[in-house]
Amino acid sequence: MTLEQIRDELRSLCDDSRPRFEQLLSELTQLKNAAVIDSDEALANRIWCYEMVALVQREYLNAFEQLKKEQYYKGWCTLEQVELGLLRLSRHFPHDWPEFKLDFIDDKVRNYQSIFPYKIFTSPEIVYFEQKCSICDQVISIRHPCGHKVGELYYGQHCGRIVTKSEFVGLAFVDRPVQKYSVPFFHHPETGEAGDHYNYQVVRYLMIRLPGPFDDWNVTWTKTRHPFPKFGLIGRNDTCPCDSGKKFKNCCRRQGGVLRPHVKFTFLFPVPDELVGIEFTY
Ligand SMILES: [Zn+2]
Ligand SMILES: [Zn+2]
Repeated sequence: MTLEQIRDELRSLCDDSRPRFEQLLSELTQLKNAAVIDSDEALANRIWCYEMVALVQREYLNAFEQLKKEQYYKGWCTLEQVELGLLRLSRHFPHDWPEFKLDFIDDKVRNYQSIFPYKIFTSPEIVYFEQKCSICDQVISIRHPCGHKVGELYYGQHCGRIVTKSEFVGLAFVDRPVQKYSVPFFHHPETGEAGDHYNYQVVRYLMIRLPGPFDDWNVTWTKTRHPFPKFGLIGRNDTCPCDSGKKFKNCCRRQGGVLRPHVKFTFLFPVPDELVGIEFTY
């Protein structure tokens, strides 16, 4: 295949593209190797961009599949890969996103992330003693830089740092992590097995209604007041169920309902009658 044929195929991304990526990626690798042999760095870097586009598209389709199968944490991690891929592309391939549906994917990844129940992440605090350059494999130090810059492309390879010696100092809990994989899960005190204690009902609600990865949808978060009986018997001095931290008598008691998050989905495709009812509250 020529690079133009591959590009055209990436442009015609659809629900059924998944089986094609293996071949497209292997063709791209061959073309890139040939460009490197010809010392054509500009071409090799352009091919890297198409490889990244293919990976982002493939992982977006994978994430959709995983969420459909109720593999929520797995789907979350795949979405994070998509996000990181798009971040790399924004630097080296900032134009033509709509042609490859990348702007759509970017928008949907944010939407999915916003309806996940993960709000706190662990962030390891690590002291690095030794790092190597992913391009030249040299040990990097301030006095001996190798000349390669992190995030740049060199003959179709993305430059990063590989940590070869480090010490783990501790774990912090953060709400805006550098990467979003490290979701804390509870471990069973005896078996040590990790259990998923999160409530995925909002994601599930969406996935039941969403026919395909390219059907458009939106989500907005608001707050609304819910009738008191929904929360059982609330004592005047109990902590208010709205999570304000205040006592009930000084908070929602006089407001005619408990203020709770409210999710509104907008589906830009026809939803089957039995699944209508597009507002969701919890
Ligand atoms: Zn280097
Ligand atoms: Zn309240």
